[in-house]
Amino acid sequence: MSNSSLRITKSNYLQFFRCPNAFHLIHQGLVSKPPQQFNSNLEWSEFQNLCRSLFSNAVTIEKSQDREGAIQKTTQAIQDKKTTFSAHLQFHEYFTIIECLQYDPTRDGWVIWDFRPVGSLKLDILRSFYYHDKVASGLGLSIIGNQLIRIQSSYERSEDFDLNAYLNMSEISEKLRSEKETRDAEWQEFVEFRCEPGEIRFDSEKSKCRSAKACVATDHCFSNLPNQFEIFDLRDGNDLTKTWFKENRLRYEDLPYTDLSPIQKIQVDAHKWNAVHFDRKNLELFFQNITDTVAFLDFESTNPYIPIFPKTRPFQHLPFLYSLHIWDSKTNELVHKTFIQEDTSMDPRPSVLNALSHDLPRGITIFSFNDFFEKLIIEESSLAFPEFRPFWQEVEPRFKDLALPFKRFWVYHPKQNGKASLKEILPAFTKENHKELSIQAGQDANYQYLKLVKKQVTVEEKKSVLEDLVAYCKLDSYGLFLIYRMLREELSISQC
Ligand code: SF4
Repeated sequence: MSNSSLRITKSNYLQFFRCPNAFHLIHQGLVSKPPQQFNSNLEWSEFQNLCRSLFSNAVTIEKSQDREGAIQKTTQAIQDKKTTFSAHLQFHEYFTIIECLQYDPTRDGWVIWDFRPVGSLKLDILRSFYYHDKVASGLGLSIIGNQLIRIQSSYERSEDFDLNAYLNMSEISEKLRSEKETRDAEWQEFVEFRCEPGEIRFDSEKSKCRSAKACVATDHCFSNLPNQFEIFDLRDGNDLTKTWFKENRLRYEDLPYTDLSPIQKIQVDAHKWNAVHFDRKNLELFFQNITDTVAFLDFESTNPYIPIFPKTRPFQHLPFLYSLHIWDSKTNELVHKTFIQEDTSMDPRPSVLNALSHDLPRGITIFSFNDFFEKLIIEESSLAFPEFRPFWQEVEPRFKDLALPFKRFWVYHPKQNGKASLKEILPAFTKENHKELSIQAGQDANYQYLKLVKKQVTVEEKKSVLEDLVAYCKLDSYGLFLIYRMLREELSISQC
């Protein structure tokens, strides 16, 4: 076999620590890499260019299909002692691309730079540096430093973008040295696994294997077991589920009932009897003091890591759309209001808050699903635009979290399969679901709007994306209304 067919990449190496089986199966081409759900590359080139602008006289190696050519070009740049962007290195079968390999003539050595659009120093980053160093040192390069560029999350943009305040640069060689023993042991583990991968099957000791259902390699790892994975849906099952699975307890009824938590007992009983669980007492307490007219509010937001507008921070959620259903329980009248910021060149927050402050009647109960998010959006936006501070103070005490009864399992439908998200709850209790929509998840809505902001769509596409976004958000607030009404009917709650 040629070197390239055996090639190990940094991403393979990192995959090993998520799951050795998955690493093996992907590396051997037995399963495909799981597709990236929402392309996170939308801002990457811009971020990379910001980082690159800190260097002068660097050679850039283009990422292309021709890896051998890119490796040769890198080798030439190294011989010429040139600082190199996207340095393609290969030592034996180990291949890597280093964001910037900087030559330091005063010390006649090389500094490895990594650019990461994240706020915190994660373990994957330390492992990446270790891997880069293995390859570069293996090739005989003298590595004299390790520099990381990430994002200063607390940076707040003003009219002008301050690159130095935005980027957070740190020399992490000392950190890498202090953890070298651990990283060496990991490398050894990796090398040994490659020599002897053993049987590829589910193993409860491999703590990273969280779900028999979610993984792309289920057929391989569970080939020796019947196709029944329901206990992996057990709420807060974690390692216990894996142990039970290893003991061949594959169905809810096989589980040791007395070892289950109260929530797990509710779940198991609901599935056993195929019956919906209602904790009437807690639900009645929850629904005390609800106003006759109630509102159901849902925001969609985008959170670019490169702040676009003044008075925004990296990763900060900026609302660009809301959907609001207002229901008068006495007259059974349901009104829908929505607003989307169509001009994507402007900060959406003032327009969104302005419209909402007109649409939302005061003094009524406002239901949201995980209301922490909706409250945060309004609070943060009103800090940037203080004219909406009184509005925030008025509505804040009116919020009520409609996710709570589901998170606490005061209500549970077997069709929820242990989950408490609106995507599971809605089809379990109503005829509605998100499957027919073009946009089916908040992350996708976030991504689609950012694409509009970055002007990566045509005028026609923009029109249809805006419509899709409005439809997605509308279903969420309408779904909240349906769930609320269902719970009321179930409990025959009288309004205050
Ligand atoms: S099913 Fe589990 S053990 Fe198998 S590859 Fe997936 S995560 Fe790993």
